[in-house]
Order: sequence, then structure tokens, then C-alpha cells
Amino acid sequence: MAAEPRDNQGLTERQSLSAHRGHSPLLVGIAQIHDQMSKHKPTFIESIAEKLHLIPNLHADVNDALPPIVGPGKLSDYPPPDKWDDWTEYEAKSGQRREKKNYMIIPTTCFNCEAGCGLLSYVDKSTMQVRKFEGNPYHPGSRGRNCAKGPATINQINDNDRILYPLKRKGERGGGEWEQVSWDEVLDDIAAKIRTALKEDRRNEVVYHVGRPGHEGFIDRILQAWGVDGHNSHTNICSAGARFGYAIWQGADRPSPDHGNAQFILLISAHLESGHYFNPHAQRIIEGMMNGAKLAVMDTRLSNTASMADYWMPTYPGSEAAVLLAMAKIIINERLYNEKFLRDWVNWRESLAEMNPDAEITFENFIAELSNLYDEYTPEFAEKESGVAAATVIDVARQIGRAGTRFSCHNWRSAGAGNLGGWAVARCLHFLNVLTGSVGTVGGTSPSAWGKFKPTGFSTPPAQKFWNELHFPLEYPLSHYEMSFLLPHLLKDGRGKIDTYFTRVFNPVWTYPDGFSWIEALSDPEKIGMHIALTPTWNETAYFADYVLPMGMASERHDLTSYETHSGMWISFRQPILREAARKMGRETTFTYETNPGEVWEEDEFWFELSWRIDQDGDLGIRQHFISPYRDDEKITIEEYYQYIFENTKGLPEVAAKEGLTALDYMRKYGAFEVEKAVYEKHMDLAQITDLKNDEIDAERGEIRKEGKLIAIIADGKARVGFNTPSKRQELFSKTTAEWGWPEYEFPTYVKSHIHPDNLAENEVVLVPTFRLPTLIHTRSGNAKWLNEISNRNPLWMHTSDGERWGIETGDLVRISTEIGYFVNRAWVTEGMRPSVVACSHHIGRWRRAQDASNNRWSTNQVTIKEEEPGKWKMWVVEGIGAYKSSDPDTERIFWTDGGVHQNITFPVHPDPVSGMHCWHQKVTVERAHPGDAHGDVFVDTNKSFKIYKEWLAMTRPAPGPDGLRRPLWLARPLRPAEEMFYVKKK
Ligand code: SF4
Repeated sequence: MAAEPRDNQGLTERQSLSAHRGHSPLLVGIAQIHDQMSKHKPTFIESIAEKLHLIPNLHADVNDALPPIVGPGKLSDYPPPDKWDDWTEYEAKSGQRREKKNYMIIPTTCFNCEAGCGLLSYVDKSTMQVRKFEGNPYHPGSRGRNCAKGPATINQINDNDRILYPLKRKGERGGGEWEQVSWDEVLDDIAAKIRTALKEDRRNEVVYHVGRPGHEGFIDRILQAWGVDGHNSHTNICSAGARFGYAIWQGADRPSPDHGNAQFILLISAHLESGHYFNPHAQRIIEGMMNGAKLAVMDTRLSNTASMADYWMPTYPGSEAAVLLAMAKIIINERLYNEKFLRDWVNWRESLAEMNPDAEITFENFIAELSNLYDEYTPEFAEKESGVAAATVIDVARQIGRAGTRFSCHNWRSAGAGNLGGWAVARCLHFLNVLTGSVGTVGGTSPSAWGKFKPTGFSTPPAQKFWNELHFPLEYPLSHYEMSFLLPHLLKDGRGKIDTYFTRVFNPVWTYPDGFSWIEALSDPEKIGMHIALTPTWNETAYFADYVLPMGMASERHDLTSYETHSGMWISFRQPILREAARKMGRETTFTYETNPGEVWEEDEFWFELSWRIDQDGDLGIRQHFISPYRDDEKITIEEYYQYIFENTKGLPEVAAKEGLTALDYMRKYGAFEVEKAVYEKHMDLAQITDLKNDEIDAERGEIRKEGKLIAIIADGKARVGFNTPSKRQELFSKTTAEWGWPEYEFPTYVKSHIHPDNLAENEVVLVPTFRLPTLIHTRSGNAKWLNEISNRNPLWMHTSDGERWGIETGDLVRISTEIGYFVNRAWVTEGMRPSVVACSHHIGRWRRAQDASNNRWSTNQVTIKEEEPGKWKMWVVEGIGAYKSSDPDTERIFWTDGGVHQNITFPVHPDPVSGMHCWHQKVTVERAHPGDAHGDVFVDTNKSFKIYKEWLAMTRPAPGPDGLRRPLWLARPLRPAEEMFYVKKK
């Protein structure tokens, strides 16, 4: 065999190439030995590894001869739909006995994260019980695939500890004593309370606070029918930062990347393993890579995603925007930008006028001034701030520039959610899309709204004439969205009270920062009059409720989901499986609870019934919005509600008719519908304009105005609808930030985080508490045994160099002190972490107290909580996780004991003064545990929490803004009130 040529390091071409990608010469050497052996047909694993460039292509000549790989979406592995009513397969547990089981297969939608993947439920016809869940190949987002959490839905519905009957508190709140009550009693009691509040015009005292939303548009119509400004969400502990960064550019507040067609993919955080729209994105990122795309990942940890990347950039937390701006500067200076897109679709004239009022308005001057604006963002500056080598910043920037319109990217929680100014990370990331013209293109990144379906309701209540300042305080006029995590502090601050408070799939005591402040608020009936927890399972917030009302799991209720998972638009129907199975067997039901376990209701029917009872005589004007569109003066049924939506879904009735089905029956059968196969370049849609006069066209600026109002942009000689901003273009210069008190942020810029090294004391480091585990879901996976078997610890990640300087080894107990307290955890010392930064996953550390019902015993430690002095709270573990006897033999097989630590409860609130996002990253000190410290110990002083809330509040620049507005009219707001409510009224 002839010797291969070698490079200056003595590596062969293949070794050199692979070493560049991060593979060691040793690995390549092994590949070479492999090469010397006779060529063989590649295994499946080899084929995938070769395509992902994890190993060199060892079988190029062999591959040429192979048949093509079966593409995604092939249905050959799934039972064909014509057999879904009568499907027989071997029973997995029967082994040699080869028993057969006969199933009915019914589709529904996973509820274990926001992605809304399709599921097929296998109903055993002999028992009429759901036996398992698999992927639904007819779901356009997930295409038959699921992550571990989808099939684990079966654990959740079979959980022995779940709540099956409505419960009412006995004794004091949080005391743990409950009695079973009837649904009639519950509905009448709550309805009477709300009716009184409405009659007394206390409409801001009725609040619905949701953790995981769904029900596209459903709850808005309920609350607006009641006339309350009562929507609160979890958005600003999750995604408000990223949302604001995107919204300020283009109106739409999320990105929808077309990873599958991209040439270069940049992810900020661990999107392949646990990111936003996890499974639908992950499968498309892999497809993109298999088609040759390169992947870069900015993540402090060597996550599974980073380990799959071509470039791992372990940026110092909060420095990401500096790196992105350095990349932007390279793209500008090396003229890798997309001139046509910038000319047509960016407000470059206004931007130039702002950068240099004296400059002549020419595109060339714009580019020159833009380059000047970012002069300080050199690769060396990026390296100084982030720790990522300048050469890597240059390399990645050029690759992005060359990818051009096929550059896809994503940033969601992670940097956007961790830092003061985290919103600037999303804004600077999108700047790269704008420069490369990859906005809305094949292989680019689209605005979210293009891919999300909005259902047509049968009756639309008017917008409410209230503005709830507990949700949208004047201090946060640009917040995305409600300042939900400040609620306990706003109540403590005397800014209002709540009469009736619904929590749904929402567990702030555990999920939010500063959980002890939530316990204090929820325990005080003067602040929260009645707390109703709508939840399938117990959680740390439900312990402090007045009513705990069991709601159905994913397969036990109706719902409609639609998310912008890729470059298409789809809807997915969540339907109660056993109710649909009963219907197919000829048994009609009126309510879903008739086929659910115990007396478990579904939310949709709960809201219909409650609304009906609030307005007994129809005098409040509520009932009129709950009358059937098909039957005069009769209450709507859940079937009619979805029938109406599906009959009014573009294209669905026609597709259904081809199969001889109604639209509703089509959705019952397939569970999902593709509304649009591809949604690209929607800003180029033709504007509908009539009676156009010559003086309404500004050919120079490419704009059409009517009565002074901009109505269309001219591009390629035609009038286009443009983007959802005041300028209908991408807004590089943001008049909104300039006018609303933040002129220093009128252009995309780098904001130094609260955990920037300049802001740390000598002994402090940064705690990154936001990383997700791919197998868990905040609160909802607590009762999924398979998932807890996989993941059941949340140790503190630290770099080996930090372990050495602190004298800490893996497994040692450490005390992590925050601004308001501390928690005690075990260390995990690893090379897969950036030095001087520690990290802890936020999924684990669930708890119950001795007085609480046994629940989620796969995941909860039993703890004791004591308020030792006013505001000084201690929590310690009295019993970890362990085996126990139950009707499920697996409970005796629990082998893990840890249960983890509840870290979030030791964090103060950090509301970003612009976006309103809670800035999760913490300044902490890490030391060996003190004598007497035990794993799981927690201490918090809520007096300090309140003080820190005030400190961050003082950083705001409150409304009113221009024209006396509370909030810019063009920015989205959930449950949008009547326009007059946007103006601050004179007192
Ligand atoms: S990504 Fe996993 S948890 Fe999320 S919806 Fe899909 S299957 Fe369910």
C-alpha cells in the first residue's frame, strides 16, 4: 500500500481533516487500521456516524453501490391507518408464548413539552385501557418520532398517586388536610365567587395563571367573555428575553428555523438534546447535518449537543452578544452580506439617519456607518469577553456569511433567559439572519407567526376594558409578557389583591425563583382570596390551594396545538382516547369525565360549565358566548366547539371530504393536519390594495401610504405586505426602544450581564441553573417512572481546575450561597464545563412534606420546612427516594435514593428592566459544606428577596411612553385589552 501524504504535523489528510473537527489522531488512527482491513458494507451506526462527520467516510466506494436510505416520513414502520380500528400484534411480554393483542389505535398529542408531537395510543380492546403510546407518522411536526417523554405518557396516566377526585381544603392553607367534594359543589362555589366579583366590578381580581399553555385561543375567549384582564403566564421565567429580542426586529417574537435545509446552523444552548421544540427540531438538525450542514454551538457546558457540533464555543455566560456582533462586523467588512435583502427589507435609511444625521442617504454610506458603529467588536474583543478564540469567531462568521440565505439559528432559554440584557443575545443573533438575508428563506429562519395556526372561534367576545397592573405594571412597558414572577412581591408591595386565582399546570413554588415568597403569598388569604389548582397531579403549589381539581393528562382531554416547528404550518388534535374509543364502540358520552379515571375532568368542559353557572340568568352577557353555533339557545358541547374550528380550517374540509369524512372525523382519525406544507417569504405576499393614487406611492423609499399610514412595501416591482413592525421592515434602528426610555439600545448591542466578571466579587463565580435534561419536564415528569429511572440527580457541575482550587472532588458535599440563602448539593467535577462557571440542572429537587399526600414518589424527597424567624426559611430532607409497595410492582424496584436539591427556591427575582425576563444566572460562592450541612439543605431569607426586588425595580424606566401609552400599541400582548386601555388615565 502506498504511503499517504502527510501535513506539517505528520497527519494524513484524513487525520488532519478529522483533527480539525475535533477528532483525535488516535481515533483517526483506528479508522486507518479499519481502512486497511477489507471493505465491508457499513453498519447502520457507521453510516450515520459517517454522515454526521463523527468518523471519516470509510465506505465511500461501498456507499455508492448501496440503495438510497429511506427518507423521513416513510410510513412503513407504522400500522396502516386502514387497520387502526382493528390492529393485532404480538404481546411484548409474552415471549415464547407468542400471545396476540388486539388494539384500537387512536391519535392524540403529547403534552410533555411545548413541541406538541403526535402520539398514537394503543387501546387494548379486551380491557379498553390504553396500553402504550408511540409516534404518529401523520403529524407534520414530529413525523412519527418522539423523545423519551412522549411514550412515558403511559406512566402518567397509570400513576397510582394521581388525584382522582375534587378536593377541598380543611383547616389552614398548606396544612395538608383535604376532603372530597362533588363537582357540582365546586362549580357552584367558584361560580358564585366570580359572579360577585364581576357584579362588584372587581374584574382584575379574577386571575388564570398558566404554566404550560395549549388550547389555542380557548382561554382568551373564556376570560374575555367574563370581561376580566385575568391572564397570567410563565413566559418571563422562560422566554421573555428571546421574545423581546426578536419582537423588536420583526414583530413576531420567536424564530422558526428551517434546519433541515440549512447550510450552517448556529445554536445558542443545547437544542439538539433538550431545546425548544426539542424533537421536531432535533430530527431536522440531524437531517441538515446529514445533508452537509455544519453546526456551531455556544454553550458553557459540553452538552450532548455541543459534543455533536463542528464548533463548540464555550462562551462565558452573557458574552454571546459580543461574539455575535464581532461576527456581524466580519460579515459587513468582508461584504458577505445580502445587499438586496438589506436594501429592500431593512429600515436602513432611518438607521443611517440615526447613526449619522449629516450623511447623505445612500446605501454605501449606510454600510460604512454600520461598520463604524460596531468598530469595537473585533474578534479579539469577542475573545476577551467570551473566552472563545478569535480565530474561531472569524471562521464561524465566514461560514455563516457563505451560507447566506441558508443560515438557520436558534436561541431560547439559555443566554436569553439567564442574563441582564439577555434579550440582546437574540437581537444580535437575528442580526446575522438579517445581514445574510436568511429571514424567511429555504434553510433560513422565519418569524414564528408564519408557521402558527390561529383557529377561528364561533363567537368572539369583545376585548376587556381593564388593564391589570399586577400583570403589566407601569415599570415594565416593553415586557414580554406578564411580570408573573413578581406577583408575590407586587402583592406584598400593596399593589392589589386577587379574589379568585386559578393555577393550571403551574407550579411556581417549585419552578419559579424565590419559592418561599410564593409560599408566603399563597398562605395569606388577604392577598389571594381563593386558590384553585387545576392539575392532574400533586405539586408544591397545589399544597397551598383551597381546591385541588383533577384535570386530564394528555390523552384524557381535548385541545388544539400548533407550533412553528419548521417551515410548515400544522394543527394537532389532542383528544380523550377512551372517550373516542367508546364512541367508536357505539357508546356516546356527554362529558369526558365519563370515560376518564375517577372523576377527572377536562379543562375545556370545566370552563364551559363554570361560565354557564357564573351567568345563570344571562344578565352578565357571558352565556351568549357559550351557545351552540349549531343549535339555537343551547349550551355548546365540546364536540361542537372543535367541529366549528375544523370546518373553518383552510383546506381541511376538502381533504376530509376526499376520504368521505367530516373535518372533525378526519381529525379524530389522523390527529393532525398540515395546513401549509411550506411557509417561506411571507413578507413578499402581495398586499391587497384598492384605489391607489399616484401620490400615495413613494418609489424612492419603496413604500405605499394611505392617509399617511404605511400600508405596503414595494419589492421586485410589486406591493408587499412586509413584516409586522411599524416600518413593515426589519428594524435595525428601533424607534421603539429609543422612544421608550432606552436610547442606548436603539441598535443591536451588547449588554453586560449582571454576572459579567466586572460585577462579581473576588470569591464569586457564576451559577448557570437553566440547563434542561432531555428526559424530564419541570413539574410534569415527576410521576413518570421511566423518566425518573433515567434522570434522578442534579449535581453541581464544575471544572476540574475549580475543583482543585476549592479542594472539591466528585461526590463531595458543597454549599452554594446565593444573594438570599444557600443550598447544599453534591459536586460533579468534569472537563466538560467552562472554568469559573458552575451549573446545575433545574429539573430535579422535588419535595413533599409529611402532611402532604404521597405523590410523585419516583421524584420527591420528603422534607421538613420551618420558618425559624419571620422570613427566614429552612428546608431539609427527612427521607429520600426509595422502594415502596403498591399495585405497581415497579415501585419496589426503585434503586435511586437521591432526589436532588431544590435550587430555584434560593434565587431572588432578577427582572430585566427592558424585557421583564427573570435573569436566572446567579452570582454564587461555592465552598465545601459546613459541619452539619446535609444534602438537600436549603436556607432562604425572604426579607432579602424583597430588598433585591426593589433594587431591580429601581433599574426600570416606567411608562407612560409616547402619547401617554402604557405599552407600544404595535407590540403583542396576551389577552389584548381594548385599545383605550393602553393609555394611562390621569388620576
Ligand atoms: S419533544 Fe418529547 S416531550 Fe416534547 S412533545 Fe415531543 S415527544 Fe412530547
